[in-house]
Amino acid sequence: MGSIAERLAAVLDRIGRACERSGRAPHSVTLVAVTKQRSVAEIQEVLSAGAVNIGENYVQEALAKHAELGRGPVWHFIGHLQRNKARDAVRLSDWIHSVDSLRLADELSRRAVEQGKRQRVLVEVNVSGEATKSGVAPDQLAALLEGMRSLEGLTVEGLMTMAPWVDDAEQVRPVFAETRRLAERCAAAGLLPQGAHLSMGMSSDFEVAVEEGATLVRVGTAIFGPREAAS
Ligand SMILES: *Cc1c(COP(=O)(O)O)cnc(C)c1O
Repeated sequence: MGSIAERLAAVLDRIGRACERSGRAPHSVTLVAVTKQRSVAEIQEVLSAGAVNIGENYVQEALAKHAELGRGPVWHFIGHLQRNKARDAVRLSDWIHSVDSLRLADELSRRAVEQGKRQRVLVEVNVSGEATKSGVAPDQLAALLEGMRSLEGLTVEGLMTMAPWVDDAEQVRPVFAETRRLAERCAAAGLLPQGAHLSMGMSSDFEVAVEEGATLVRVGTAIFGPREAAS
């Protein structure tokens, strides 16, 4: 299996090769090491191996880790976010990947203004249409972005998506390609910046996501090994 440092290097290498295959600059992709359920010691290990960006899913867990690690790493909040956790999420996070409603966006905006901060956010889109996945439906995306335009304190950086779990990552290529097309359409309509960020790809499918334009990939298991089953 190797050490965390070795697996991190292997993932970065695979990202680099996926960039090469698709004619992209290797530095156009940022690796977010997903650290949910990982100990502070494991996070320190990945940071000393050179990782800079870490992703957490749960506000309580992130708060505890943040108290120990501070502002050193770049913090990405990637989990489903409830409005009553918005204040802490804004306090903790450099990026929030999981905005999926105007009510949540509004609360994040209020908290960002209160904290005198500009919060970078991504809008999560449920491109695969799976009922179990969060995210705004593609046909509601433009309306949500339109509604978010007037919100202070937020910088809308792009889109995030989660593909369904499949054995063969090629099967989810259309999900990533569609997310990119949605971002391009929204950018053309002035609802997203040109060259908007795309947060897509996890351990099982990040190379395909990079080939389809991901700028942020969220990888846990391939770096840290399998997570404990939730008890
Ligand atoms: C857990 C998680 C990941 C990382 O998944 P791995 O399969 O461990 O790479 C990425 N994105 C989100 C939103 C997650 O919850």
